[in-house]
Amino acid sequence: MSVLTLVVASSLTVAGSSCSTSAVGPPPADTTGPEQVDYVPGESYYGEHGYVEYIAGNLPIILSAGHGGHLMPSAIPDRTADRCGGSATTVTDRNTREMTLMMSQAIVERLGGHPHVVISHLHRRKLDPNRDLVEAACGNGLAEQAWREYHGFIDRARADVAEAHGRGWYMDVHGHGHPYQRLELGYLLRRPDLALDDDALTADDVFWRRSSIQTMVTAATQLPALLRGETSLGALYEEHGFPAVPSPTYPDPGDEPFFSGGYSTVRHTCTANAYLYGGHADGPVCGVQLEANFHGVRDTEENRARFASATAAVLEEFLARAVMELETAGSYLMPHQ
Ligand SMILES: [Zn+2]
Repeated sequence: MSVLTLVVASSLTVAGSSCSTSAVGPPPADTTGPEQVDYVPGESYYGEHGYVEYIAGNLPIILSAGHGGHLMPSAIPDRTADRCGGSATTVTDRNTREMTLMMSQAIVERLGGHPHVVISHLHRRKLDPNRDLVEAACGNGLAEQAWREYHGFIDRARADVAEAHGRGWYMDVHGHGHPYQRLELGYLLRRPDLALDDDALTADDVFWRRSSIQTMVTAATQLPALLRGETSLGALYEEHGFPAVPSPTYPDPGDEPFFSGGYSTVRHTCTANAYLYGGHADGPVCGVQLEANFHGVRDTEENRARFASATAAVLEEFLARAVMELETAGSYLMPHQ
């Protein structure tokens, strides 16, 4: 039995059904008081207008998809650079909503518990949750409310994971349009950072501290192994047939474009910079921005299912390995006993 299945409540019987609807908004982002809602793992809960969906979980895994929505309510004007503080990307990450739901289902089937899942159903023309509030909602009240719900649900999931498991893993799911067909794993380290060799990457604590996996490693010297070594997420995805950067094969993006992680990855992971957006700096939940290429991953239902299944296996192994590596430094993903 894997470490992850050990932490799942054995009383679970619901297998991935997420069709029920309850009009329950998330608590305010900074609430630390008693829970208002008794969330049931596998059940869906929606923000006030149905723009944001939260599928409650009981595993130490949180998935979010902010760029795969389709809703274009006329009550929210389109985002434009003029209205959004000078910048507004409005292209959707095609099929990432569907793919994230399949990833969730595959995790349920493999690990026997539910990940926490947060989805924006709004088209990116209306809301971009992976930006700060000004650029995300562009001054529209309904979009601002959806943004607060989206991040409020993730805040709530992080708090739940920390309380139930001590540690956790957050994955913000996206799709890139870059020509090179490989996964891009954004740990908040930029292309020039990753171009450094391992010695240079560990010579200055700044990279370790800034990374979205900071508290998964206990010293800067361990950063390269978790980023692109044999135990890295990229290595495991490659073993399952999905090329990734960084990884042992592609330790850095080279001259290719690369997404290093955005607002959500800063706010909801253990980077030392999380405090900038009201997150938990040096916190117990680490993570990554997963940018999926289109061909072979997002393009067909068959490929999405294949990738979802691989993700469940990859996460099981990645998080279990992390536990084993950190056993002497403190528990990782282990339940409080
Ligand atoms: Zn995106």
